[in-house]
Amino acid sequence: MSQASNSSLTKQIMIAMIVGAFLGIALNQFSPSGEESLVNSWLVGGLLSVMGAIFVSALKMMVVPLVFVSLVGGVTNLGDLSALGRIGGKALLFYLLTTAIAVTIALTLAVSSGVGEGFEKSSDATFAAKEAPSLSQVIIDMVPSNPFAALAEGNMLQIIVFALLFGIAITLSGERGKHVLNLFKDLDVVIMKMVDIVMKLAPIGVFCLIAKTFATQGMDIILPLAQYFLMVVLALVLHAVGTFSFMLRLVGGLNPLRFFAKMRATQLFAFSTASSSATIPVTLKTVEHQLGVKNSVASFTVPLGATINMDGTAIMQGVATVFIANVYGVDLGMSEYLMVVVTATLASIGTAGVPGVGLIMLAMVLGQVGLPIEGIALIIGVDRLLDMMRTAVNVTGDATAACLIAKSEGGLDQARFDNPAPEQKIEGS
Ligand code: ASP
Repeated sequence: MSQASNSSLTKQIMIAMIVGAFLGIALNQFSPSGEESLVNSWLVGGLLSVMGAIFVSALKMMVVPLVFVSLVGGVTNLGDLSALGRIGGKALLFYLLTTAIAVTIALTLAVSSGVGEGFEKSSDATFAAKEAPSLSQVIIDMVPSNPFAALAEGNMLQIIVFALLFGIAITLSGERGKHVLNLFKDLDVVIMKMVDIVMKLAPIGVFCLIAKTFATQGMDIILPLAQYFLMVVLALVLHAVGTFSFMLRLVGGLNPLRFFAKMRATQLFAFSTASSSATIPVTLKTVEHQLGVKNSVASFTVPLGATINMDGTAIMQGVATVFIANVYGVDLGMSEYLMVVVTATLASIGTAGVPGVGLIMLAMVLGQVGLPIEGIALIIGVDRLLDMMRTAVNVTGDATAACLIAKSEGGLDQARFDNPAPEQKIEGS
């Protein structure tokens, strides 16, 4: 897909999103969600829901094969295996640092605005917290006892570990390894073509997803929580535009405007699917083919980031913690805030980038600082929309990491990054 057709695709997705939002709002007015009606059963719960779900499944369909094939190829291309440890170390450092900055921004804004003070707890909604895995269990679980089970379940950390080992073994296997490597390189091109095909369906898929979301959510649920909602949005925008631009410019010497222009389509995918994981194929494609990150860096950092790097989610957790503390009249001190930063940063490691997972992580954060987990019920009504926005920030963070790490490893094609219209040459195409 050339840059020209890529930008027209972005435009189409944007139009689909706006029209979908209008349609959803109109449907919600005409036939409020929860009401038994033909519109709700046939259109919202029927056509829009089915088409949207098919689109998300089509994206998810490519995640496991693409990550596995691309990562095996990426590792073998590295040649020097010590580079692998370096890239992994830099990625982890970047993820931890930016997530800590994100939650600090969120806490600062939330505390200084007193979000939640005077809020009436009238909600009778309940929230049953699911257990988030402990960090030690996450580390033990990283090594798959059965790689096929890991692939079948889409367990990203296990897939990454198996692919890395497989790639290293190919490198060490000499001539015979080269045959296997060639097969993987060819498969990578073929699966990227599949990504192209599914991306062409994006305007329809996005239209259905957005229309369904707005038809079922309605705007009236936002009003009572407007202060909380806007505070999260403000922190997300500050982090996405401020922190990432600053890092791209100062750490990498890269032009943030160029970066954001090329990230638009990926952000729209993340926004409409609310899943960093389902967006991996699109993020990977953008990072490699548009931003010029070498496959060996992108194939490792993008899936890893989608699983463990969630700045947007950490922001929601920061604001939500202060909001819930204020509603319940609990005073949090400096040590509790520090605990929020640490827990929110670490919580993202054990949970995959799928819709709504941020709330499970929030339960962990609230538990750490002794706040009632039922408090989550207060904010759950607006969480879907915030989930969409924070997922866009999450994938932007993953792409920023990929660019900066590639730059520091000499693996960034600067001309491609700077070129507003790079020819998308995929090896073998
Ligand atoms: N939906 C987010 C993601 O996939 C995670 C969350 O905040 O719930 O990145």
